Formats: sequence, C-alpha cells, structure tokens
Amino acid sequence: MALDRSNPVPNDLSAFWMPFTANRQFKKAPRMLVSADRMHYRTADGREVLDGTAGLWCCNAGHNRPKIVEAIRQQAGELDYAPAFQMGHPKAFELANRLRDMAPAPMEHVFFTNSGSESVETALKIAIAYQRAIGQASRTRLIGRERGYHGVNFGGISVGGIVNNRKFFGSLLTGVDHLPHTHLPGQNAFSRGQPEHGGNLADELERIVALHGPETIAAVIVEPVAGSTGVLIPPKGYLQRLRELTRKHGILLIFDEVITGFGRLGAPFAADYFDVMPDMIVCAKGLTNGVIPMGAVLATKEIHDAFMGGPEHVIELFHGYTYSGNPIASAAGIATLETYKEEGLFERAAEIAPYWEDALHSLKGLPHVIDIRNLGLIGGVELEPIAGEPTKRAFTAFLEAYDRNVLIRTTGDIIAMSPPLIIEKGHIDTLIGTLADVLRKLH
Ligand code: PMP
Repeated sequence: MALDRSNPVPNDLSAFWMPFTANRQFKKAPRMLVSADRMHYRTADGREVLDGTAGLWCCNAGHNRPKIVEAIRQQAGELDYAPAFQMGHPKAFELANRLRDMAPAPMEHVFFTNSGSESVETALKIAIAYQRAIGQASRTRLIGRERGYHGVNFGGISVGGIVNNRKFFGSLLTGVDHLPHTHLPGQNAFSRGQPEHGGNLADELERIVALHGPETIAAVIVEPVAGSTGVLIPPKGYLQRLRELTRKHGILLIFDEVITGFGRLGAPFAADYFDVMPDMIVCAKGLTNGVIPMGAVLATKEIHDAFMGGPEHVIELFHGYTYSGNPIASAAGIATLETYKEEGLFERAAEIAPYWEDALHSLKGLPHVIDIRNLGLIGGVELEPIAGEPTKRAFTAFLEAYDRNVLIRTTGDIIAMSPPLIIEKGHIDTLIGTLADVLRKLH
C-alpha cells in the first residue's frame, strides 16, 4: 500500500469540529488515516492497521476496490451532477433496479437519500403520509425502542433510545413511544447467535397499542440487530412477534438495516436472514461500500402505489434531497453491488461467520469481560465499567488496540466489531488475538 505523500497532516487541527469525537483529547494525539487497501488502513505515521470495523460498518467489500474507484472516476468525467427533481439520469434508475433485484421480493421501490439518518427521516415521513393516503390520517404516532439508534436527525433521535443522543436536544418529536430494549444480561450473557430469552418483549407493543389506540399509530421502527448501542441481537421469535402484532393492528414495520444491509449477516438483508418481511427497509453505508455518501428507503408496492392515485402532473411525495440519486453515488452503488455479487461476499460472510463466532467467544474468561454477543460478521464484547468512569475501560482498550495496529470501535463499555466481508481466518486470528492481549493487560 502506497503512502500518499501529497496528503500531509496540517499543523493546525483546530478548525474541524469532529463528529462524535472527544475533540480535545483527539487533537492532542491524533489518530490520522491517510490511505487504505482491502483489510488495512495506513496511518500518517506509516503503520498498517487491520480494519476490524469496516470503517464505520460500511466498507463491506474492504477498501480501495478497483471497480468502485474506476466507476467513480468515469462518472465524474461524464455526468457530474443532474438536478434531482423533475429530471433523471440513467445510473440512478439502474441502481434502483439492481437494489430492488437484490432486496427481498416485496420491496419494489427505492427512494434515494444521502445517509442513514436521512433514510430514517424519509421512512418515518413516508409512513405517516402513507397512512394518510389510505384514509388513516389519525395514524401519526411513531414507535421506536430503548437503546435504538436511528441516526442523528430529529426524527431519528426521537424514535431512537440512546440517552446521550437525545437529552441535550430539547423536546424532540411528540407522539413517540418506545418498546423496551432486548438486553437481558442475567439470562442471555454469552449467548452464541440469537439469545433464547426475551422474544416475548415484542408483546409490549400491545401495551402501547392499548394505551393510545391502534388508530393513532403509523409505524414501528427497529434495527433488526442493534449495532451502535453495543450489539444487541434479537432474541429468538422477537422479530416474528413484532411482525405479527404490527400486522394485526395495521401498523407499518420499518427495519433500519443501515448496518445489517448488504451481507453483514451473510444474506443481502436482515429481513432475508430472519425471514421476517417489514413494510420498508432503511439502508445506507454498504450501499456504496461507504465510499460515497448514499442511503435508500426500500418500500413495498402497496406503500408506493398508495401515493399514485392523484392527478398525474402533481408531485406525489413532497420530499427529497438535492443529492437524491446523485450520479457519482449511483455509479459507486452499481459498482459496489456488482463487487458483492461477483465476489460472492454475502455467501463468504455466511461461511466464515462460525469461525468468527468461535474466535470471539474465546475471549470469555479474560479480565473484565462480562458478555460476548455475535451474529453474522458482527461481534460485541462488553466490559465491566470502572466505577464512576463509564466508557473509560473500553475506550482504553480501543486506544491500546490501535497502538497494536488493530482498529476496533467502542460504544459505552462495549467493544463492537464488524469487519469487511473479505476478512480471512488469519485476519480474525490477528484481530481477536490482539484484543485478547489488550484485555489481559488492561487495568
Ligand atoms: N441507523 C443505524 C442503524 C445506524 O447504525 C446508523 C449509523 N451508524 C444510522 C442509522 C445513521 O446513519 P448515518 O450516520 O449515515 O446518518
């Protein structure tokens, strides 16, 4: 991997207000990445760091993949931008077709956005507008889940349930309820794959329905596997029960598949993996291998067609973004989906997942490890927090691992991992071996 000398680190790091970052701490000892190739990043100080997180759960095909790079180059020189409203260009239609063909059969239509957060807002708005379009205008309430992460915009943090993402930002959306989270450490600790206990937590939806009346509720949104809150795997039967209850009460079910989409569980989408069909799927990240910002909402024909009844010249859905279906993002998306297919990466993820599971659970018994959770190519290792200093232990592990050339991620005191789907057994050994070493020496 070549180190790019034309990209020196500026002396002044003060202007960039970094997202979800301890800015002052970072700027004292910056962790600066300057290039990447397949499973590795290269740091500004010339080290190769094994990517245990696929960037931020997004570079599913690994880094610097030639087909994607070339598609972006070509598109940038051909059609750089086209107005997104009342105009089109071929690549966006092509990508929509390919996404529809990859998605579970009921998902026939695609609305493009630029991120997971925008996809969430879009799906929530479509849900409310759909209910109105079918004569159910009283259905405006939205139901999320405790510990849920649905991006950072106001709709997403309102239905989301991560306290720090909500509490500083005022009163949020009204008309929102939360299901309980599904984390039952007493019963499910160290489960491999889906935990046995907690499927019945979906029944809490009945309590919310009874409280408000089903005729007030538009949609339920959940992550099939909750990632950013620290890897919570749905208990057996939970998603099936949620589907039964939402259907029974005329409530739409939205799966936020921003991290589970595009092979993370060894199937195109979690909806395929769990064989539970929502009414909409929210995705982003792996759609373009994380290379260009892009997201999408996949919707059933029933939802789409509910908007198509009015006069033909009238805009059907008053929603969209300047960059919806951007040509360069669309080209990157097409090349990404081709790469997944040509290299059989989803099947590969399914094949290597048992090895990943065994490696991950070999960390049981190491100091401070109080739970290990996994599904597909996702892993979570929960550490016992230091009294009075939550998050410190896991963050120290992150820093120590980075010093040893391995990139992991932490949320609270949970280490979360989601490597590129091209990972090989040797990489897993290095990743988990290094983490074991770090944990053994951790204070
Ligand atoms: N939903 C889920 C489940 C996510 O994991 C994320 C990002 N981690 C988002 C939404 C938000 O995506 P973005 O950061 O692209 O806005």
